Amino acid sequence: MASLASCIFCKIVKGEIPSMKLLETETIFAFMDIGPIAKGHCLVIPKHHAAKLTDLPDDQMGDILPAVKKLAIATGAENYNILQNNGRAAHQEVDHVHFHIIPKPAEAGDKEGLIIGWPTQRNLSKDDISKIFEEMKSKL
Ligand code: 5GP
Ligand code: ZN
Repeated sequence: MASLASCIFCKIVKGEIPSMKLLETETIFAFMDIGPIAKGHCLVIPKHHAAKLTDLPDDQMGDILPAVKKLAIATGAENYNILQNNGRAAHQEVDHVHFHIIPKPAEAGDKEGLIIGWPTQRNLSKDDISKIFEEMKSKL
């Protein structure tokens, strides 16, 4: 399993940094987030070290979503967000792939859980979207 000596999440997987472990399989590890933004906020990570999702080999991904689903159920939350940040500009602080499970109580407003600002200033025309669509399709 690829690991990076200086990576805090690799250290958590190896038990070199303590964590509140929730789940473990051959390829994933799940634990409570140390800086929760909601009650029950936890993380699922692949054991394989990869900075971004696009760096993670496909054969290391299979257990992630089932674990995310189990944990979301375990929080007991009716409403929740699954968040996965990639790169500094996209708010990634720890450079080891991780999926956040973040409960969002119905009455929380901006006091608990994820606060999403959905930018409406990007007025892409249908033509623009169509061009991007063709470009993306050509890379698949
Ligand atoms: P990011 O902003 O990279 O998507 O989120 C990183 C998350 O990792 C943050 O929510 C932060 O609280 C959590 N975190 C950072 N260091 C540690 C740690 O040493 N232990 C645990 N359990 N969580 C951590
Ligand atoms: Zn790592």
